[in-house]
Amino acid sequence: MAQAAQAAGRPAESVGLLAVGKTFPAEPIRELYGHGQRAFGENYVQELTTKAQQLADLGDLEWHFIGPLQSNKTRQVAQIAAWVHTLDRLRIAERLAAQRPDTLPPLNVCIQVNVSGEASKSGVTPEEAPALAHAVAALPRLRLRGLMCIPEPTGDDERLRAQFATLATLQRRLQDQGLALDTLSMGMSADLDLAIREGATIVRVGTALFGSRTPGAVQPAPQSP
Ligand SMILES: *Cc1c(COP(=O)(O)O)cnc(C)c1O
Repeated sequence: MAQAAQAAGRPAESVGLLAVGKTFPAEPIRELYGHGQRAFGENYVQELTTKAQQLADLGDLEWHFIGPLQSNKTRQVAQIAAWVHTLDRLRIAERLAAQRPDTLPPLNVCIQVNVSGEASKSGVTPEEAPALAHAVAALPRLRLRGLMCIPEPTGDDERLRAQFATLATLQRRLQDQGLALDTLSMGMSADLDLAIREGATIVRVGTALFGSRTPGAVQPAPQSP
């Protein structure tokens, strides 16, 4: 991360590390916390809830929700998470705003943008993003921080770079429209250097920290639509 930041002429501190522990139990997360890591990402509400309970003694551990979020699961996320990276519907944002406890600071949110155009991908189109961003920014109890993307799985660096650049360009456009955004959540284990060169401020890293995921290690509960 530091090398990529340096190569891009950016200070190393301008990029934050989100440790993605999905499918791993609480112990390796606790271990990483012991080395100073504070921000941890989870994809499934059931896993988030379980690990938040198991690690409740680590008071300043910060949970980031980075998976698809159904409306029947928003309450748990609103109560546990400090961040949601994967907002792509106003209805979900409204529920999170209504359910965020007054005793907690506003929930930080990013809008997920489908930068690859793959039909199977979550996220709004780049064209839809501005309307959703302005609507979310107007909601109470939420703080719109920026944009997030998952590019298409490809080894083609030029395609990846172009998709990260699409997100960065969109962010600048929204900033020009008056939205105070400071977060670009993009880049994972395999492509974090490219993402940092294109302006990532949070990289979401699982495999490179925890090792490869064994299918079936911790099965997420099925999520109903
Ligand atoms: C699993 C996951 C990651 C981490 O991916 P790695 O390739 O293991 O680093 C990052 N972001 C999201 C949204 C994920 O689901």
